[in-house]
Amino acid sequence: MIIEIENFIIESEDEIDYKDEMVYTLQNRTRKILEFFELEKLSKKQKIVIYNSVEKYKAHMEKHVPEYKDWMIGDTYGENMSLLSLDEVKKLESHKNFTIDSFMNGILHEFVHVCQREYGKNERELLWFWEALAVNLSGQPNKPISLADCDFSLLKKDFNNVEGNYNYAYELGKYILETYSHEEIMTFIKNPELLKSVEYKIFENALERQKLNT
Ligand SMILES: [Zn+2]
Repeated sequence: MIIEIENFIIESEDEIDYKDEMVYTLQNRTRKILEFFELEKLSKKQKIVIYNSVEKYKAHMEKHVPEYKDWMIGDTYGENMSLLSLDEVKKLESHKNFTIDSFMNGILHEFVHVCQREYGKNERELLWFWEALAVNLSGQPNKPISLADCDFSLLKKDFNNVEGNYNYAYELGKYILETYSHEEIMTFIKNPELLKSVEYKIFENALERQKLNT
C-alpha cells in the first residue's frame, strides 16, 4: 500500500485499517510542529515505512543502534521515518496499553525529528535536547520524574541506556519551553554549539526549579 500526500509518502506491505487517521494526523496535527520549526513544508517528501513484523523492524534498527530494545517502535534513522505497525506494537509486553492515539503521538514525535533534521545533522550528545523537544511537542503523556536522580553527563553520553531517559527529557524540555523564548530555542536548534555552551546551566536551573516547585 502506498499513499502519497503533501509532505509524505506512506508505504506498507499490508493494508492498514487506520490509514485515514494517519493521513488526518499527518495533514493536520503536523502543522503546529512545522510552524514551531519555522518551516512552511519539508524540503522533500518524507517517506514513512510501516513494518508489519517485529523481526523486520528489529533488522532495520540493528543497522543503526548497537542493541535493539523492545521499547523501540519508531525512528528516523537513515532517510525514512520507520514505524512498527500498531497491531505489532500492541503485541509487545512493554506496550500492552498502546492505543491508536499513542500511535499517532508517536508519529508526531518522529515528525519533530524530521523537522529538526532540516537544520542539520543530529549529534549524538545532543540527543537529550532533540528528545526533549520531541516528547513535548508531540503531546505524548509523561510520567513525572525527579531531575535530582538524573546524571546529566550520562544522559548526554548514552541517552538510550539511561532509565527514565524520556521522562528526564520531558522535564528538561518543559523547562526550556517555559523559560526560553521561541526565538532563543530556534537559536539553539540552528546553532547547537551555543546550546552546548549552556546545557549544564539549563540542567541545573531546571533541577533548581523542580526543587522549588515540590
Ligand atoms: Zn525521539
